[in-house]
Amino acid sequence: MAKLIYKPKMSLGEQAYVPAIASGLKLTMGRFFNNVFAAHKKDASGNKLLRRGDIDTVDYPEEKRVYPPRFRGVHRLTHRMDGSPRCVACLCCSTACPAQCIRIEAAEYPEGDPRHGYERYPKVFVIDELRCIFCGFCVEACPCDAIRMDSGLHMPPSTQRAHFLFNKEMLMAIPGADGTFETANPRHEPGDATHPGVDREHSH
Ligand code: SF4
Ligand code: SF4
Repeated sequence: MAKLIYKPKMSLGEQAYVPAIASGLKLTMGRFFNNVFAAHKKDASGNKLLRRGDIDTVDYPEEKRVYPPRFRGVHRLTHRMDGSPRCVACLCCSTACPAQCIRIEAAEYPEGDPRHGYERYPKVFVIDELRCIFCGFCVEACPCDAIRMDSGLHMPPSTQRAHFLFNKEMLMAIPGADGTFETANPRHEPGDATHPGVDREHSH
């Protein structure tokens, strides 16, 4: 059975909506001017004087918020102790990347290098930071702690597409938020006495 719903009675003012619009504008403009004036009020130490109800804003880019430790920023490629990339060009990160924005070309270490025949290195490593969705899957997929997003940086704005293509040299020139290029995770190189795996001497 249908239920009848009667239209509520509205006064002329309510039907015109003008008082409601004026009331909404008063609230909005009140907040707006509060925040404009609050942004310029500072105490003796130069800190902003914010009041309850003000919006806490920062004058970016001169002023920046401190990002939390797990903030996913622009990628970096971590270094070994000798300054070469930790990356072994296994392609796990580019395979896991849902945005398909990592391109790697693997190469062999030269004859005579203890890593020759064990590990490869990335001759080309490019990330398209504009296409990246900052999911962190590449970091999770890496077996070598070779790629990280702990730089604490986000992409600088640019109008040029090419500025978002970060190559190996650029990725290796970005330090972590702590200012270092290595990681705390130990790494045992092939040929080292501490190398725990199978090598040429221990393969039988
Ligand atoms: S953060 Fe995600 S989208 Fe960006 S490169 Fe890594 S896997 Fe790809
Ligand atoms: S960054 Fe890590 S996952 Fe990606 S290719 Fe290098 S070693 Fe493999």
